[in-house]
Amino acid sequence: MAPRSRSPYLVLTLLTALGLACPGGADDVAARAHELHFSSIVLDTHDDTTQRFFSKGFALGRRNPDGHVDIPRMREGGMNAIFFSIWIDGRILGPPAVAKALDQIAAVHENVERYPDDLVLARTADDVRRAHARGKIAVLVGVEGGHMLGNDIRMVRIFAELGVRYITLAHFYNDEWADSSTDKPAHDGLTDHGKDIVREMNRRGVLVDISHVSDKTFHDALELSRAPLIASHSSCRAICSHPRNMSDAMIRELAAKGGVIQINYERSFLDQAYKDASDALSGGVVAQMDALQKLCGDDAECMNRKTKEMQDQYEREGKLPHVSWERIVEHVDHVVKLVGPEHVGLGSDFDGASMPEGMEDCSKLPKITEALVRKGYTDADVRKILGENTLRVMEQAERRAAAAGDASTRPWPGNGGERP
Ligand SMILES: [Zn+2]
Repeated sequence: MAPRSRSPYLVLTLLTALGLACPGGADDVAARAHELHFSSIVLDTHDDTTQRFFSKGFALGRRNPDGHVDIPRMREGGMNAIFFSIWIDGRILGPPAVAKALDQIAAVHENVERYPDDLVLARTADDVRRAHARGKIAVLVGVEGGHMLGNDIRMVRIFAELGVRYITLAHFYNDEWADSSTDKPAHDGLTDHGKDIVREMNRRGVLVDISHVSDKTFHDALELSRAPLIASHSSCRAICSHPRNMSDAMIRELAAKGGVIQINYERSFLDQAYKDASDALSGGVVAQMDALQKLCGDDAECMNRKTKEMQDQYEREGKLPHVSWERIVEHVDHVVKLVGPEHVGLGSDFDGASMPEGMEDCSKLPKITEALVRKGYTDADVRKILGENTLRVMEQAERRAAAAGDASTRPWPGNGGERP
């Protein structure tokens, strides 16, 4: 057998690995982006992985062949802070909604206990920073839909005590006190009870999340809330006109009050051609959801699987256009050009949405950092987008709650902070 020749490609690969190729050039940028990404707090504000905790075939601690999030892939992608979303069908109301939400919150806690070397619960921004300093992944909880309060304002406090850090005011349907962006207006935004709930969220340091709510609900919440708002997973209407996305005017208003929009990676939120083609095939998001719920009931795992099967088939048949992960960066950049780098972050919707090509799961996240660095973003601005903006908003909400005498924003026990 002839000795293996040293190909120019191999030499280049070795030089790149040693950081010796093209000083100041492309490989230098890649190395800088890698170092920046893996030293930052990378906080994702919306992941539907919680639904998978109830599936026999899934384990958070091992690499799964499907889905978007598990601990090995989070480590690979440098995702070190995550909001696991609590979600149930918006037509379930009252005490059954509370019971199902508590089931899911318990499942998040159980998973953290199962993987203590990797995960730790976080309730405050400081908890997240401490977890990062200890090399752990900070786990936070967000409740995606006001219907899970069971129309009982006392549940805000109870959820806050259990670690819930944001509540989305409404989901797919209007709830008892807030209008959704995908339902017929019933309350003209927030009812008086809804306004009391927003005040109670401020008092408990729970972020007011306006992803999925109607424009009027957004404006009511913006006017009322004494802490900045977040959109935990929404993108920009200027690029893709989806009712769940935010218009430039809304983004400006959100930013003027210190808030942050966390970009959603769902293909039909990112790309207008994809959304138009998808709507033409399914009759729009409402008809699509109805069809899926007929097939799957409230089994979110089943809904995700069926959506993916359908989309894969349409793509094979050439009925849906391709959407590249670079669209995510386009939406981030759009917000930055509009209101600066202090008001945008990442809210992937992993395990609850169809990911664009190149962002198959959370292990691909470093690509976003590299793309931002290549666009000329400073390290400080990239860190803001990756997580610091959300932490700032959390801190503001915590200060507001502390001033109101609330105790539910104490550090989580066992996370290095003391609990009185
Ligand atoms: Zn959602």
